[in-house]
Amino acid sequence: MASQSAPAAAVNDAAIGFSLPARHARGRLVRLGPALDDILSAHAYPAPIARLLAEALALTALLGAMLKEGGGQLTMQAQTEAGVVDLLVCDYRGGELRGYVRFDGDRLAEAGVLPSLFALFGKGYLAITFDQIVPGSEKGERYQGIVPLEGDSLADAVQHFFEQSEQIPSQMRVAIDADGHVAGGILLQHLPEGEEGRDRLHTRLDHPEWDHVRILGETVRESELVDPALGLEDLLWRLFHEEEEVRLLGTTALAKGCRCDFEHVRSVLARFGPEERAEMVDAQGLINVDCEFCSKVFPVRGCLENRI
Ligand SMILES: [Zn+2]
Repeated sequence: MASQSAPAAAVNDAAIGFSLPARHARGRLVRLGPALDDILSAHAYPAPIARLLAEALALTALLGAMLKEGGGQLTMQAQTEAGVVDLLVCDYRGGELRGYVRFDGDRLAEAGVLPSLFALFGKGYLAITFDQIVPGSEKGERYQGIVPLEGDSLADAVQHFFEQSEQIPSQMRVAIDADGHVAGGILLQHLPEGEEGRDRLHTRLDHPEWDHVRILGETVRESELVDPALGLEDLLWRLFHEEEEVRLLGTTALAKGCRCDFEHVRSVLARFGPEERAEMVDAQGLINVDCEFCSKVFPVRGCLENRI
């Protein structure tokens, strides 16, 4: 009896970029699996915080697509003055992702199993920063946008950022599977007609081509976004196979990546004077610096001379 062949392993921990030239649209699909576990395993977050970070990481991977030619860094930071979550930071650089959340555990316990965005952040703000590398220049180019954290999800807030601050009709959707081990997302954007040479103000939110793309984007089920057996290219085909042309713009592998090491820690401590450092040392003469992204601790001598 012939055994049923298993479906080909789909590519996870990846992002694919695409465009729909005839519809003046572009987009990106992302899926995080093992890389998400890898990032979350550095923390012992309660489920609602782990899900929040998973959503933020998928969004960060979607936004990272906007860096020119994959260079530079994208940082997403959400903060509040008196929310359950005090700070959430994620960044993306060359396919590497990292993130962490600072929150009040007691207040989180009072917020229930599925706290709303408002319950988590209260009156919060989201800052999205693009640090572009400028070829041939030492200094990069920085662009930052800040929006209030409003709507039902972080994805809603990011979508509003593009629509209101940037005048770019956009659709951002992110889903997390029930166990919190897989995150998937889709970003669709309408390109101003001709893309260049025309004023952006001509972009209309009710553009018929954009309406068509947006409606197709809404047909993606959350279960499809987080199905590890459904490859991203297969999902793209499912969505847009009736379109005149779908141009694949490349695949980026995604992974956990942190830039912390002793050298970095020492360079940060070197910015403090010897007296200030003397106040930081413990009984063993060590300054213990921890990386909040990956929860590693770097013990450094107060004099900065010897690594432990
Ligand atoms: Zn680190």
